[in-house]
Amino acid sequence: MINVHIDGQRCKGCYLCIAVCPRKSLGVAAVLNKKGVKPVEFKKGAECIGCRFCATMCPDCCIEIEKE
Ligand code: SF4
Ligand code: SF4
Repeated sequence: MINVHIDGQRCKGCYLCIAVCPRKSLGVAAVLNKKGVKPVEFKKGAECIGCRFCATMCPDCCIEIEKE
């Protein structure tokens, strides 16, 4: 089981993580965060293979990948 944790309040909306996800599992949320940007979210029903590309790419370390 792989859990993708995204700190949506700290996300600055650069969307670099979306670009590197090989499974296209990350998308843009509908609601603005406290910074006034639409943060990244994990798409419902999407698959994560635990590659950590997104977490490595994020300049603000907003993503953590947890493997159980
Ligand atoms: S790379 Fe980080 S800051 Fe940029 S959109 Fe993704 S989670 Fe947000
Ligand atoms: S760990 Fe890999 S597959 Fe999972 S959301 Fe991040 S980039 Fe996509």
